[in-house]
Amino acid sequence: MCGIVAYIGSEQARPVLLEGLKRLEYRGYDSAGMAVLNNGLHVARTVGRVRVLEQQIDGDDDFEGTIGIAHTRWATHGGVTEANAHPHVDDPSLGHGIVLVHNGIIENYAALRTYLLNKGHTFASETDTEVLTHLIGELYEGDLEAAVRSALREIEGAYAIAVMSQEEPDVLVAARQGSPLLIGVSEHGYIIASDAQAIVGHTSRVLDLDEEIVARITRDSFHTADLDNVKVTPRMRELEVSLDQIELGDYPHYMLKEIMEQPQAVRRCLRGRIDASGGEVILGGLGEHARDLIRCQRVVFLGQGTALHAGMLGEYLVEDLARVPSETDFASEFRYRNPIIEDGTVVVAVSQSGETADTLAGIREAGERGALTLGLINVVGSSIPSATDAGVYLRVGPEVGVASTKAFLGQVTAATMFALFLGRRRFLSNNQTVDLLHALEAIPDKIAQACETGDEAKRIAERFVQRDNWLFLGRGYNYPVALEGALKLKEISYIHAEGMPAAEMKHGPIALIDDGMPAVFIATRNSQYRKVLSNIEEVKSRGADVIAVATEGDDEIVEIADEVFFVPDAPEPLQPLLTIVPLQLLAYHTALLRGHDVDKPRNLAKSVTVE
Ligand code: GLU
Repeated sequence: MCGIVAYIGSEQARPVLLEGLKRLEYRGYDSAGMAVLNNGLHVARTVGRVRVLEQQIDGDDDFEGTIGIAHTRWATHGGVTEANAHPHVDDPSLGHGIVLVHNGIIENYAALRTYLLNKGHTFASETDTEVLTHLIGELYEGDLEAAVRSALREIEGAYAIAVMSQEEPDVLVAARQGSPLLIGVSEHGYIIASDAQAIVGHTSRVLDLDEEIVARITRDSFHTADLDNVKVTPRMRELEVSLDQIELGDYPHYMLKEIMEQPQAVRRCLRGRIDASGGEVILGGLGEHARDLIRCQRVVFLGQGTALHAGMLGEYLVEDLARVPSETDFASEFRYRNPIIEDGTVVVAVSQSGETADTLAGIREAGERGALTLGLINVVGSSIPSATDAGVYLRVGPEVGVASTKAFLGQVTAATMFALFLGRRRFLSNNQTVDLLHALEAIPDKIAQACETGDEAKRIAERFVQRDNWLFLGRGYNYPVALEGALKLKEISYIHAEGMPAAEMKHGPIALIDDGMPAVFIATRNSQYRKVLSNIEEVKSRGADVIAVATEGDDEIVEIADEVFFVPDAPEPLQPLLTIVPLQLLAYHTALLRGHDVDKPRNLAKSVTVE
C-alpha cells in the first residue's frame, strides 16, 4: 500500500533509503522503519514521520552499511504501533536474521500463522507481513532466494517485498504480485522502490518486475526467475520522470503546483493525438483494436474516487459524441456484482496510478468475461496497462498531491479523445469533429485562464471557511463536476460536502438547507442553463448562500448568486475541463485556512492498492 525503498551497492544505504522514503511521503503513511546489514542486522522502527526515524538513527554507526531496506507503512492488519511497523524479522530462535518490508495484504495470513504457531514460532506483531517473514525463515536452508520463492508459492494476496538475511549480507531479494516494485540500475548499485520517485535522481534506467517474479540482486548483478525458478529476462526502460517534475519549485504545495500545471498537462496529453483540421484523433495505444472498438455495442467505465468522476464524464461523452450506450461503475461494485458482458462490450479502467486494486480487479474480471479492455492511466509500466488489451496514457507527469487534480484533467481529456475517436467513425460528421477538435486544441489556454481564479477562490474560501456542510450541484456534464468539487473539499478540508444532480436536490436533500449553507452551482451557459437558474432560486429562497461557476460575460448570474467564478466559454462537452478548476482552488484555499496539510490529508493514501 505504501512505500518500499531498498538499496544494495557501493554507497552508504542510509541516505539513499531516507531520501527515498521522504520522496514517498506524499503517498500517506502512519509509520516508518529501516534495516541495514553491517556486521549483523540493525533495525529501527517508529510510529509517525520519516524525520523521526532519521533522528532515531542519526549518528548511529550500526546503520553504516551498503545494503538496506526501508518502509513507510499504511496499516491494514494490526494497529499503528512500533511493533507493527516494518521491517519485520523472522523468528529469533531460528537465528537466520531474515528481515522484510512489505506492501499489500497477505490474504491467507491467518492459516499460515496457525501453521507457524504450531511449529513453535512466536510473533512480535499483529501484522500479516510478519507471518510471511516467519514463513521464509521456516523454509530457509541457506539460500534466501529459494526460501522466498517457496514461501511465495504459499501466499494468496498482494505483495511487493524486499528481503535480506544476516546470513547472506550481499544479497537482496525482491518480488511483487499486485503491488508495484521497480529496480533502478545506477552506476553505484541497485535501488528497489515501489514508486519511481524514489529512484529519480539516481538513475533513469529501470527494470520492470513482472508479477510473481523473484529478483536476486547482488552489488553488481541481478537475476530474475519465476516462482518455479525458470529464468526470465526483465524489461529495461528509461524513466520519463525527471527531478524537476517532482520538486516543488516555487510553490508552497504540490497540489497548487499541479493545479497550475494543468494547462501544460492537458497540452501534453493532446500532443500528437489530434489533427484538428483533418478531423482525426490518432490514438496509437488503441492499435490493432481500433476496428473492434468502432463496432462496439456498449462502453463501461470503471474507476474509484476522482477517476470514477472522470469515467462518468467519459460515459456522457461517449453517449453524446459517439451514440454508443455507455455507463460508469465503481470498479469495486462491478467486480462483485456478477457483471453482464455481452459481445461488443468495451470496459475502460480509469486510474492515475494504474495500481488501484479495485479497478485492477474489476478490469481483470471484465477481461475474463470476454470484454475488450482499455485503460486510461497515468503511470507508465503500472499494473493496469499490463492487464488491459490497449489504452491511452495520460502523459500529465507525476502527480504527488494526494488529492488528484491534473490527473483528473488528463483522464477527462483522454476520455474526450476516445469519445471523439469513436464518434468520428460512427456518428459525427467531419465538420462537427473538426469544430470540436479545434475547440479541444484551444482548451489548454482556457484552462490557464480558469487557473487565474485563485485570488477569487481565496476570498470566497475566507467567507465560507467556517461552514461545515456544503452542497455541490450541476446538471448534465456539470453533474460529475459537482461530485468531483465536493470530493476535493472533503478530501483536504474535511468538510462535509455532497455533490448531486441539481434537479435531485428538491427530492429530499433540500431538507438540509438552512440559513447560510454554501451551495455551489456549476451553472455555465449550456443546454440546461435555465433549469439550473431555477434550482438556484429554489435553494436561495431557503436561505443558502450560492457560489456559482459561470460562463464569462454572464451578467444574469451575478444578479442571483452571492459569489461567481467565471470561466471561458467552450462547447458543452468540453466545459468540465474548465469548471472544475476554480473548485480545486476553492478546496485548496479552504483547507489551508483550516490549517490542514493539503498534500498529506489525513487517512488518505495516494494510490489505494488494497481492495
Ligand atoms: N499489510 C501490511 C501491514 O499492515 C502492509 C501494509 C502496507 O502496505 O503498508 O503491515
